Amino acid sequence: MPMRFETDFPTTGALQLQVCGACGRVNYPSRELCGNCLADDLAWHTVNAEGTVQSLSELHYSLEAPYEHHLPWGVASVKLDCGPVALAHLQPGTPLLERVSLRVLSDRDGNRMLVALRDGTDSASSWLETINFREDSP
Ligand SMILES: [Zn+2]
Repeated sequence: MPMRFETDFPTTGALQLQVCGACGRVNYPSRELCGNCLADDLAWHTVNAEGTVQSLSELHYSLEAPYEHHLPWGVASVKLDCGPVALAHLQPGTPLLERVSLRVLSDRDGNRMLVALRDGTDSASSWLETINFREDSP
């Protein structure tokens, strides 16, 4: 049985996060009030999706059968150039402090998630195809 979970990422090809209309801070994860100034003027905007891998970890066990064939599975915290730190699935072989770009992709069950990819690598698209992650139609 597929496992489903909900995220609140807007359905677009670009990374969109909440931006505060009062102070301009990019907020992630999404929230009711700005984490900087407590204003409730938060709207979704396309942001710079590039950042730096600041820590990473490998998962060596999965509760979901489709992932068992792809272990170990990389997970990273990425310091985005636009401010926040986000957790993301990590393209294999990506080292610490590497520059990456975050994309919102869906897995085979339609779960939307953040994926960190190294820029300009052919292996990124090959990996995404292997694990059956894809972009939603906007
Ligand atoms: Zn604010």
